[in-house]
Amino acid sequence: MHENMDQEIINPLDFFIDGEVEAKPADKTKKPGKSHGPRGQGLFITATDTGVGKTVCTQVLGVLLKNRGQAVGVLKPVQCGGRDAAYLKKVLNLKEAEEEITLYKADEPLSPHLAFQRQKIHFEPQRVIERYHQQRQRYDYTLVEGAGGLLVPITETYWMIDLIRDLGLDIVIVSRPDLGTINHTLLTVHQAQARGITVRGILFNQCRKPGGGAGIPERTNPDIIGRLSRVPVLGVIPHMHRLDNQTIQKQCSKKIDLRALLRDPQRPDSSRWAAWDKEYVWHPFTQMKDWLKEDPMIIDRASGLYLEDTAGRKYLDGISSLWVNVHGHAHKDIDAAIRQQINKVSHCTLLGSSNTPAIELAKKLVGIAPAGLNKVFYSDNGSTAVEVAIKMAYQYWQNTGHRAKTKIAHLENAYHGDTLGSVSVGGIGLFHKVFNRLTFKTVGIPFPDFYRAPSGKQYPQYTEECLAEIEKVFAQKGREIATLVIEPLVQAAAGIIVWPDGILKRIKLLCEKHQILLIADEVATGFGRTGKMFACEHEKVTPDFLCLAKGLTGGYLPLAATLTTRRIFDGFLFPYQARKTFFHGHTYTGNPLGCAAALANIKTFESERTLARLAPKIRYLASRLKKFEELKHVGQVRHKGLMAGIELVRDKRSKAPYRWDEKVGIRVCQEARHRGVLLRPLGNVIVLMPPLSISRNEMDTLLDTAYEGIVKVTGDKPPPAAKRK
Ligand code: PMP
Repeated sequence: MHENMDQEIINPLDFFIDGEVEAKPADKTKKPGKSHGPRGQGLFITATDTGVGKTVCTQVLGVLLKNRGQAVGVLKPVQCGGRDAAYLKKVLNLKEAEEEITLYKADEPLSPHLAFQRQKIHFEPQRVIERYHQQRQRYDYTLVEGAGGLLVPITETYWMIDLIRDLGLDIVIVSRPDLGTINHTLLTVHQAQARGITVRGILFNQCRKPGGGAGIPERTNPDIIGRLSRVPVLGVIPHMHRLDNQTIQKQCSKKIDLRALLRDPQRPDSSRWAAWDKEYVWHPFTQMKDWLKEDPMIIDRASGLYLEDTAGRKYLDGISSLWVNVHGHAHKDIDAAIRQQINKVSHCTLLGSSNTPAIELAKKLVGIAPAGLNKVFYSDNGSTAVEVAIKMAYQYWQNTGHRAKTKIAHLENAYHGDTLGSVSVGGIGLFHKVFNRLTFKTVGIPFPDFYRAPSGKQYPQYTEECLAEIEKVFAQKGREIATLVIEPLVQAAAGIIVWPDGILKRIKLLCEKHQILLIADEVATGFGRTGKMFACEHEKVTPDFLCLAKGLTGGYLPLAATLTTRRIFDGFLFPYQARKTFFHGHTYTGNPLGCAAALANIKTFESERTLARLAPKIRYLASRLKKFEELKHVGQVRHKGLMAGIELVRDKRSKAPYRWDEKVGIRVCQEARHRGVLLRPLGNVIVLMPPLSISRNEMDTLLDTAYEGIVKVTGDKPPPAAKRK
């Protein structure tokens, strides 16, 4: 019951839409994860303005570091006019060719976005990032020199500050000490810090002779700026007539505080964090006895598809940080939206008042949800979104005089969350059985799992049998059933079980026939994960309730929404004395920060044409997954959109599973982690669920690594390369 995998051979041009390059072809020589390991440190040299002397400062830092025995490399990724790279190559005696130091070079001394436009140069940040990681492997210090200041556009939508963020580098700000510098320098510091960039220090360059004010500004400004910005002042480079290395060493070594520069104040000692984690934190869904023996991965920062741990190791986020992240980490528009909202109000209550982002988001959600869903009730996680729907459905029938409708139906292998209400409608034995006596009685409905279907049962007969079974249950108990809860199209936590086409629509029709309200739990499938904004859209179904969480905020903040119809809403409109109000509401309901993030997330779908760009990625994923099916211990590969599950079995013919205590899934994910990819299994199913913004290169890394991990753990032999194609 997986999606048809007989896809055509993938055309690499599929990744180009409207002439836009999404990612360059995979570099086959690159080992996944390898280039992201730490060796040296990197520093980004930026300035308050052009012409402040960044290149001289890069030279000065380079010379001083080299004289302390450090191996120093330099990158000047963007250059418009001038020959900074050639100069640095010469004075610092760099091994690399000029074009390896400067990756994007335009002839005219203009803003890079304009100079590149005029010369038709196409800028790709990924190229710079990869180049930087190569350099970092070779040198103790890699100095990356910017062009102009932080807000210099490299393209209209990608600025120097975005590159710094994506490189994950701390910065040194080069500034002038004379009159007017306080404002410029503080603006630069504030802007960097607002984007989460660490400013290691400010380096003043006395590039001009003292101007007005009898030299007072030059003498006092560095101190003033140090105090007001609370950023270390690294020193003042004196005005030098000669810039040879000897002069620099002589004139600057005592004036520049390299210690402040070399200390990494933000990067905590990883072993200390591990010890504290083990002492104080209890992790969810985790056998802590095992955890206490392991070396935990402790994430400190993230950018795009990559998470970075406290030791500086990078991991491709292959599970969207538990199925939530949509457009990548540290997305600048979502970051900015949250920051802007913080400046207005971070939280206020929806009980007795309202707030602007909650209203705007509700309007937006109604606009993008299947037609007919026009009321939004907020909560803060997937489980509560489902519980709200269940309670609303139940109370709706009570309020409207259908007292017999008290039962809740659900599919037998469902997962809807971990609170007791959502556990009641769950069916995953390992998680739910122990709480049996705490949960309410439900009507469980069997559901087709074609992989483990009784032998001989095939599509479509088996589907028909299952639907007939649902109809039978509805016919017998429909009068008592208030609602049916489903995960439309993909039963995610059950092991990415993908439904055959057409079932959802048929279930909806059965519900209508028997007056059973349909709750579509799109906590996992919502926000593009299946290829459309919502899974229900594939079959043009409008459920009575749509539950959203996870991807709602782009994976940023805990926010959930339960959407419903006017009919249900009207079923709660009674005189106050009737006590038919919906008495439910969580403290952080409609939190303005969460709503602002969600609005930015939805806007990003529009501005980046996320859904339009998904189709080729899904086709590529499908074509690459075929190779897994050939492995001896891969029982089935299932996928819908960018949700994929690779089920590992001990014996492919009999479908005999591995014992769960063999931890095969966990071990594959450990292997992947060593190779720089973050995965998390569901039992013996390896789940791949990357952010929708994944590029083709990143998809290759994800799939290659999962493949290598499976081969290593199961002892499978990959088929000969020629046959694998
Ligand atoms: N419903 C579905 C379909 C889910 O996959 C999940 C979480 N994986 C939930 C509900 C529960 O969401 P939360 O963990 O935010 O409570």
